[in-house]
Amino acid sequence: MHQLTLAEIARGLADKKFSSEELTRVLLARITQLDPQLNSFISLTEELALQQAQAADARRAKGETGALLGAPIAHKDLFCTQGIRTSCGSKMLDNFKAPYDATVVAKLAAAGAVTLGKTNMDEFAMGSANESSYYGAVKNPWNLEHVPGGSSGGSAAAVAARLLPAATATDTGGSIRQPAAFTNLTGLKPTYGRVSRWGMIAYASSLDQGGPLARTAEDCAILLQGMAGFDANDSTSIDEPVPDYSASLNGSLQGLRIGVPKEYFSEGLDPRIAELIHNSVKELQKLGAVIKEISLPNMQHAIPAYYVIAPAEASSNLSRFDGVRFGYRCEDPKDLTDLYKRSRGEGFGAEVQRRIMVGAYALSAGYYDAYYLKAQKIRRLVKNDFMAAFNEVDIILGPTTPNPAWKLGAKNSDPVAAYLEDVYTITANLAGLPGLSMPAGFVDGLPVGVQLLAPYFQEGRLLNVAHQYQLNTDWHTRTPTGF
Ligand code: GLN
Repeated sequence: MHQLTLAEIARGLADKKFSSEELTRVLLARITQLDPQLNSFISLTEELALQQAQAADARRAKGETGALLGAPIAHKDLFCTQGIRTSCGSKMLDNFKAPYDATVVAKLAAAGAVTLGKTNMDEFAMGSANESSYYGAVKNPWNLEHVPGGSSGGSAAAVAARLLPAATATDTGGSIRQPAAFTNLTGLKPTYGRVSRWGMIAYASSLDQGGPLARTAEDCAILLQGMAGFDANDSTSIDEPVPDYSASLNGSLQGLRIGVPKEYFSEGLDPRIAELIHNSVKELQKLGAVIKEISLPNMQHAIPAYYVIAPAEASSNLSRFDGVRFGYRCEDPKDLTDLYKRSRGEGFGAEVQRRIMVGAYALSAGYYDAYYLKAQKIRRLVKNDFMAAFNEVDIILGPTTPNPAWKLGAKNSDPVAAYLEDVYTITANLAGLPGLSMPAGFVDGLPVGVQLLAPYFQEGRLLNVAHQYQLNTDWHTRTPTGF
């Protein structure tokens, strides 16, 4: 039963082949048995899951339907869950039980989804390897010596290992797409403003966006349907009707204009990944797509701009963790300054402290113009590049990451080496565009992702292209040995 996708589960539940409670029990047992190898969960919510499963079965018995009614999922541990620990992967929030549900959590619960638990993540979503978590690193089910990507590494490892069919995740600079690529999943970062950020603990507010991680585009469509929509509680939420994403999957790709940026294939990209990306281009050509070379000239400036803007926003967002109102508080503070200093010094890990310092520096009076303002100008240029490109093409295609998943610990001593791996993903966040990563093959037994980007609110187009690709390829069906 653990092999079923969300779409198959929906059919199985509708046909009364099994109940949500049966399925939930199977998956909870599987998590207990296999997760010690992976460390993909921070908290399991068995009691809640069984209650929700029984309630979903009762709703179905009364004739209610819905693709998410009784579907088991998990939430990245930065979505607030009422009465349940919401740690953000940090010692700072180890003792924090959220007083309310994030909009995403509430919407999915209302649709009947069953929450199995909260997944591991990089501390405050800062990272690309899931090694900065206070709860320990997550292992990649494809090779337990390698990282699963980050920051949504727990959600990715759990879904890839078939511990559950899908999970929520968030993407500030690639944290849905990069772990999807590293673990052979399909992951979608929606347009900024498409999914409510209310109750999603903030890292960099102008970049953060929640989205689905699943095995197929079809399942991403189902989960996104339950997550997307206007929310008056989020001032950056956009009041735009939510289309039927599952209905968009079957469009023909005949005449679809795909742009391949020449800058994507420069040095730094593993040539074996380049070859797999070219293969996926050929596959889409067979389905009727027309390929065009395009240029994104400002791409080279995106990493420095992102690594100024994201830490700047983080330094502001994380100032609320002061040891006073909630979260970690140091023992026996001498005075208020000591309380602030030690609570933050002991509660935050090294990477979070590094980002807060970089961000505070970039925002300081003397350096604001030189760093923060400059970075914002680059951000506009990056967006303009995309706007120009989307005048000529419908979709932009390239690698999700320059390399496959690295070995645990390999980049720990050199944070910048990890930052450079974000080169293909962060531009979509800077511009606010939707992006999807889907399986495109393997290098040394490790999965490789191909990334698709589309104009604002064209999530349906991304899912359509990915679904058609998945009807004609079988990379996404491969299962890691041992799971
Ligand atoms: N790797 C990027 C960072 O560390 C992206 C993280 C994310 O998307 N949450 O900032």
